[in-house]
Amino acid sequence: MKTIGLLGGMSWESTVGYYREINTGVKQKLGGLHSAKIVLNSVDFAPIEKLQQSGDWDATADILCDAARSVEAGGADFILICTNTMHRVADQVENAVKIPLLHIADATAEVLVQLQIKKVGLLGTAFTMQQAFYKGRLAEKYGLEVMVPGVADCQLVHDVIYQELCLGTVKQASKQEYLRIVDQLNANGAEGVILGCTEIGMLISQNDTATTLLDTTKIHAAKAVEWAI
Ligand code: GLU
Repeated sequence: MKTIGLLGGMSWESTVGYYREINTGVKQKLGGLHSAKIVLNSVDFAPIEKLQQSGDWDATADILCDAARSVEAGGADFILICTNTMHRVADQVENAVKIPLLHIADATAEVLVQLQIKKVGLLGTAFTMQQAFYKGRLAEKYGLEVMVPGVADCQLVHDVIYQELCLGTVKQASKQEYLRIVDQLNANGAEGVILGCTEIGMLISQNDTATTLLDTTKIHAAKAVEWAI
């Protein structure tokens, strides 16, 4: 079994999910007392969130490159950045180490291709929904058409992530708003909706809607298990 390197803490609420999903996956595949071999570097999210807001992505890349080198030195065979947003600096992280990076958008796109979904909604932080690093990769590498909510709903989705989910707060009212936005994307032609933020699975799940949801934490973790075994 290979050792999985995790860059976590962004936020730690979702890193808990990765830890559980990966260990559950290994147990399912190998049985008994088997568990995943993991090296985790969990960063302090507060300074990273400030740098995101000021647009200083190079400074966030420095933090994540250091974290990546430390998990490589700790014996990791490959790396996961446990957040969609911080894939904004995935290229820098990839170049900082010799071991491969398991990109969250690639793992997600592979599932979309299997499901034969071509037009997909995307929920995530404003950075993920609006900038090119994520949507562009899905469009250029996999030919997917990516739809995002309107301006006001983008803001709502973004605010719930930073002001509630990353702090471990789950509100019924926010859940209803997210489900309304999922319905809207579906009504506008989305054949599925990517939960493109690793905390959204805390708020909504497939049981809540008939629209196909792609939970990036679950998909990324499952792919890590596949790579490890
Ligand atoms: N975990 C979130 C994501 O998947 C947001 C927190 C962050 O900015 O990294 O995008």
